[in-house]
Amino acid sequence: MEPCISLPLEKSLLDDVVAQSKDFANVHGIVMRRRETPLSSDVVCFTPHTLVPSPVPKKLFYQSVDVQNDFHLLMHGISRDYQFLKSVLSSSMQHDEFQKKLFDIYEEVYINNIPCQPIMLGMLRCDYMFDCSGGRDISTDKIQLKQVEVNTIASGLAGLGTQCTRLHRFNLENLGKSEIASSLPESKAVGKMAEGFVEAWKLYGNNKAAILFLIEELSWNIMDQRWLEYEIRNLDKSIPIIRRLFKDVVERAKIEDNKLILDNYEIAIVYYRYGYSPEHYPTEKEWEARLMVEKSQTIKCPPISYHLAGSKKIQQELPRAGAVERFQKYFPDGEVTVKRIRNTFAGLYTLDMNDEGSETALKNPNIYVLKPQREGGGNNLFGEDIKTKLEQIGEDKSRAGYILMDKIEPLVVTNYTVQSEKDVEIRKMVSEIGIFGAIISNGENVPFNSTCGHILRTKTVSSNEGSFAGGSAVIDSPFLV
Ligand code: ADP
Ligand code: MG
Ligand code: MG
Repeated sequence: MEPCISLPLEKSLLDDVVAQSKDFANVHGIVMRRRETPLSSDVVCFTPHTLVPSPVPKKLFYQSVDVQNDFHLLMHGISRDYQFLKSVLSSSMQHDEFQKKLFDIYEEVYINNIPCQPIMLGMLRCDYMFDCSGGRDISTDKIQLKQVEVNTIASGLAGLGTQCTRLHRFNLENLGKSEIASSLPESKAVGKMAEGFVEAWKLYGNNKAAILFLIEELSWNIMDQRWLEYEIRNLDKSIPIIRRLFKDVVERAKIEDNKLILDNYEIAIVYYRYGYSPEHYPTEKEWEARLMVEKSQTIKCPPISYHLAGSKKIQQELPRAGAVERFQKYFPDGEVTVKRIRNTFAGLYTLDMNDEGSETALKNPNIYVLKPQREGGGNNLFGEDIKTKLEQIGEDKSRAGYILMDKIEPLVVTNYTVQSEKDVEIRKMVSEIGIFGAIISNGENVPFNSTCGHILRTKTVSSNEGSFAGGSAVIDSPFLV
């Protein structure tokens, strides 16, 4: 795919544009704490980024945007379907303590009808790649949008992603490409997500109550969260916003009159930017705290039912006949919505006993990705590692905790990456687009359903996982072709 400018750039021009790109990023808050000092904002650094936007097929970009609200409704429907969640997650739960504990909380709260909060807040990010396994010709329908996953908890990068378009416009202008600069699609992700928070906060109905950002201690990506916090403040300065660790909730939060109280604040919304991984729950106390929050009247973002609906095991189930259709009553466009959703699915296979998934994968591991039920990047297996893993697991029932997915053969682009203390070189890279969205549900009803904006993350072709958190991907923005 042709880049949006002719590459390579002449050395002195490149040096100048790169230096300006770093300064612009620093001036405009496209920054992170340094990995060496994740507890301190004394010294921060621009966020690693591509120098210019990477090409994205226009049709696929709009396809990903157009299906976003549908996915919110699908997740909403799943979150309300106890039988579906139970039957799909039952096999993986048997051997996955983490998944089981999440489900136990869900079950205790929802089945026992504990009075809690009917209003739910979801901040989602659906991720996709542009699959070229059918051919690389952009002028045909051969390149297809394929969903990598739906994130229903701690979906980050709306803050930094929103600013990246601004940065790329500036760089393109410096390269004399103002026309391309003005044609880039706007991402208003962080502002629109903030609107979701404000709406949910109003529905809670106490103008003294706070929004709690539940965060991790080593917050090297804190500025991304700050962007969201400040956008909420821009919309309504009266909303108290506090940031606390899970540990603080464990130690000091309490329930009074079914309300969640922490440090003298009544909490209107708990926004989890943490709590999605087993190591976030080192003792039973963290589980007790999660249960306490879930039972309380506070609005959870996400509630545990949304967290479970975003499981990879659920993703694997959805392509099966009837699975998406089961939730059709939630879709205003009925079958048309079902089709829009289904069109984004990659091939997904179960590794449950008696299924053929693992045999198929052993024969040809290079065309699959093996995924455990985990979040946060760095967990998946590719190629020969799939074989080793499957042979190691053998017939053990823990196999059901994994899903097998067709490996997407992504569109390859060329771009420069701007990273601290690294040479700026032209690299062959692949992109993953993330579409942000916000949903508020109140029982069956969905009073707020909003597609918020996008982020592109781009990684070198050679790295299998494009984790931004792990340092192998950089932020980017789409140039539509
Ligand atoms: P996580 O929840 O940990 O982010 P993902 O499902 O997003 O898990 O996988 C992590 C990364 O692995 C993705 O960002 C992508 O780079 C790569 N990946 C995941 N699924 C596929 C796939 N089917 N084909 C190719 N690469 C994939
Ligand atoms: Mg994820
Ligand atoms: Mg991911």
